[in-house]
Amino acid sequence: MINPVKGTHDIVYEDSAAFANIELRAKFIATQYNYREMIIPIIEHRELYTRSVGESSDIVRKEMYEFLDKGGRELALRPEFTAGVMRAIASNKLYVNRELPLKYFYCGPCFRYERPQAGRYRQFYQFGIEAIGEPSSYLDSEAIIIGHRILESLGKPKLKVKINTLGDEESRKRYKEALINYFKDHIDEMCDDCKARLLSNPLRILDCKVEHDKEIVRNAPKIDDYLSDDAKIYFKSLLYTIKANGINYVIDDNLVRGLDYYSGVVWEYVAEIKKGEESLALGGGGHYNNLLKEVGGPDYEGVGFSLGIERLMDLLRSQISCKIEGPGPDFYASALNEDALDMMFSIVQKLRDNGIMVHLPYKVKSISSALKCASKMRARFALLLGDDELNKGSLIAKNMQTGEQRPISMRYLKRDVFKLMNDYFNEKKE
Ligand code: AMP
Repeated sequence: MINPVKGTHDIVYEDSAAFANIELRAKFIATQYNYREMIIPIIEHRELYTRSVGESSDIVRKEMYEFLDKGGRELALRPEFTAGVMRAIASNKLYVNRELPLKYFYCGPCFRYERPQAGRYRQFYQFGIEAIGEPSSYLDSEAIIIGHRILESLGKPKLKVKINTLGDEESRKRYKEALINYFKDHIDEMCDDCKARLLSNPLRILDCKVEHDKEIVRNAPKIDDYLSDDAKIYFKSLLYTIKANGINYVIDDNLVRGLDYYSGVVWEYVAEIKKGEESLALGGGGHYNNLLKEVGGPDYEGVGFSLGIERLMDLLRSQISCKIEGPGPDFYASALNEDALDMMFSIVQKLRDNGIMVHLPYKVKSISSALKCASKMRARFALLLGDDELNKGSLIAKNMQTGEQRPISMRYLKRDVFKLMNDYFNEKKE
C-alpha cells in the first residue's frame, strides 16, 4: 500500500461535492463584483516569494517546498497566490490599456511544509481575490464584504471579522521603532521566533502564540498611538463602510498576518463554532503597497484576501445549518430486469444529452433497492423501467420527497421529463 504524502489528503465522496459547492459559490459571487478568473502556474521562481512574501516570514524561512529543476533553476511550489498573481499581471502587462482597478480571482492548491494538524495541511486549497490600482477605501471595504458574502452564502455561519490597520509607511516606521524599543528589554525571555523577528519584523512578535510571550505582548505599544492623521481617517471611513454594509467586526490590534507585504488594513474571518469557541481563521487578507512594483510592474497598490477551502469544509461539517453537500442527481435511473437494461442505457444517454443529470447503476436492481439507493444519493426522482413499463412504452418517475409517481412516455421522453422537472421546481418555489 502506498500512503498519501504526509500533510496531503484526498477529497472524496461528500467532501468533493462540498468542495465543488464552495468553489462554485465563491466564483459566482466574485464574478458578480466583476472579478475575472486568473489561472497561474503552481511552480514559480523561488525568488518571487523571497522578494514578496519576505525573507523573514515563516512561509519563506521554514515552510516553502523548494527544489532545483533539471536545468538548475531554483523553483518553489506556490505557498500562496498573491505574489504569483502580481507576477502574472507584470509578465502579461495586464495593466496596459485596461481600466483600473484590475480585479482577479483564483482557486487552487498551495503548499506549505507545516506541522500537519486539524485544519492545517501541507497541500491545501485557497480561493481568493486581488484588486490592483485604485487606492480607495471602498475597494478595501468591498474586498472585506466579498469574502464575508461568500462565507455567508455557505449557510449563515456566525461570522466575525477581526480587523486592524498597519497604517501607512510613515506610521509603521515609527511604530516598529517603538516596538523594538519595548521588546528589546524582554526579548531574552521570549521564544526563538520572537528573537529572530525583533529586528527583521517586530510587528510579527505581536501575533506570537506562546502563552508567556503573549503576556509581554499585552503591554506593548499600540499602533493606534502611531497612526498618521491620514491613516486614521482612511481606517475610520473603511470601518464605517463595512459596518453600514452588514459586517460585524472587532478591532484586534495584535493582528498583523504572516506575510510581510501587508500595509494598511488587514483582516481575518473567523466563525463561532460553539458559544465562546472560535474556528481557526477561515481566511484573511489585507492591503499592500509595493508588491506589484517589487515583481517588475508599475507602482500600484492592491488589496486581496484568500479563504482556506478545507477550513470552510470543516466549518460546514460542524454546523448543521450549513449546506455541506452539493445537489444529488436529477434522476436515479434503474432497470428492474435484464430485458430493460439496454433500453434504460439508451434513455439515460438521451436525458444527459438534454442537460439532465442522471445516475445509472449499470445493473438490475429490485424496486426496493433502487429506491433505497436513490434516496441515499439524494436524487430528486427515481426513474424505473420494468416489464410492465416496457410493454406500455413508458417509465415510472417517482418523486423521492413526496412519493408521487408519474408515467413518462418513451416516445415523448423529452417533453414529459421537462414537464416533470418544471412542475418540480415550480412547486418548490411555492
Ligand atoms: P494566508 O495565505 O496565510 O493568509 O492564509 C489564508 C487562509 O488559507 C487561512 O486563513 C486558512 O484558511 C488557509 N490556510 C493557510 N495555511 C493553511 C494550511 N496549512 N492548511 C489549511 N489551510 C490553510
